[in-house]
Amino acid sequence: MSSEKKIIIAIDGYSSSGKSTMARALARNIGYRYIDSGAMYRAVTLYALRNGYVSEGTAPDIQAITAALPSIHIDFQVTPDGQDTLLNGENVESEIRTLRVSSCVSPIAAIPAVRHALVDMQRAMGTSKGIVMDGRDIGTVVFPDAEMKVFCDASAQKRAERRYRELTAKGAQVTLDEVLENVMSRDHIDETRDESPLRKASDAVSLDNSKMSIAEQDAWLMSLYNRTIDSLHTIHPER
Ligand code: C5P
Repeated sequence: MSSEKKIIIAIDGYSSSGKSTMARALARNIGYRYIDSGAMYRAVTLYALRNGYVSEGTAPDIQAITAALPSIHIDFQVTPDGQDTLLNGENVESEIRTLRVSSCVSPIAAIPAVRHALVDMQRAMGTSKGIVMDGRDIGTVVFPDAEMKVFCDASAQKRAERRYRELTAKGAQVTLDEVLENVMSRDHIDETRDESPLRKASDAVSLDNSKMSIAEQDAWLMSLYNRTIDSLHTIHPER
């Protein structure tokens, strides 16, 4: 594929709606870079937990977290299965997926200074396009001009079941009720925060994947990508 055809693909949606799975598969198939923006909020949260700036059930120390932002460096390391998240050089990929981090991440992601810092990093990653990024505000705030935008949803029960299966497969001791409660509480905080709340961009294509298999969802996304590229060539034949 020639570099001038590269676009930005924004995949937003609710917690555990299958965004990352489909975004990662699409990026692999079309040779794009995949960025899991949620991993970046999770890495900041892990840093805050380790330094006592937040704990489960208490509000984060906004001042301490804001002051610490220049000391938090997040990178991604490409692996055969996707990518691992590095926090100040340490591979924290497993630790950021725990329910402990999930239960503190949304209040931290609502802090304006955290969002500004991470949005700047995310925009820098998209300067040469050829990127698939998933999150909550990618199509609305990070890349409002993205050429392709998808907004994913599925019932809360279905999303919790998926996340529960992922967590227990890794040996986590959690109940389905705990996971469901976490998914619903994160959705609520993400949708009602003042700074870049979770919203569908007006030009995003909606996908409810409650009843879709992973293969069906991948095929749907690939077909949308092909149609997007075709329409860009029709509208801008020089691209
Ligand atoms: O995508 P994931 O569920 O791993 O994201 C973890 C949390 O990070 C979300 O619940 C949300 O609070 C926050 N987030 C965000 N904006 C993004 C990506 C994630 O606020 N672009």
